Amino acid sequence: MHELDKLADRIRACKKCRLCKTRKNAVPGEGPANARLFLIGEAPGRNENETGRPFVGQSGRLLTSLLQDAGIDRKKVFITSILKCRPPNNRKPKGDEVESCKPYLLQQVKAINPKMIVLLGLVAIENMIGDRKKLRDMHGQVVKAGDYNYFITYHPAAARRFPGLKKTIIDDFKKLKRLGAD
Ligand code: URA
Repeated sequence: MHELDKLADRIRACKKCRLCKTRKNAVPGEGPANARLFLIGEAPGRNENETGRPFVGQSGRLLTSLLQDAGIDRKKVFITSILKCRPPNNRKPKGDEVESCKPYLLQQVKAINPKMIVLLGLVAIENMIGDRKKLRDMHGQVVKAGDYNYFITYHPAAARRFPGLKKTIIDDFKKLKRLGAD
């Protein structure tokens, strides 16, 4: 069994934090083991909790179209989130939940060894590179931290909340494609 599948099994059976009590399905993430791009969101929402698959709700549809419009094949990238289980009512992840869950993410990153890690929104940014600058000053840029290159952009949900951001996010994904990391 591939390391990623073993990790997914461990994530589905995980009881390390309180979210195991309220989740229906844990959402390990999906994508090929040889993915060059590794996308990290915040946490599963309602649809992801129902299906066990990442980014399948409204934000997921937007993410798929952002990738597609930029010429990036969703099937070739690995997609997951900081938390693998849905926080009740989609509240923000708590520190101890991230602490329990993050080792899974780091092991997924290690197993895939991607060319670029795409951080979707502040929760992913803060927890992966600890940067607290304003997203409007960081988006569209590549940050090198430790062994990896990180591409910074907004979470697709931000474009739904603030429609004025949509073009910015579209442009970020096109820039990501131009970087040739897909
Ligand atoms: N938002 C996320 O951050 N992750 C998902 O899997 C779905 C929505």
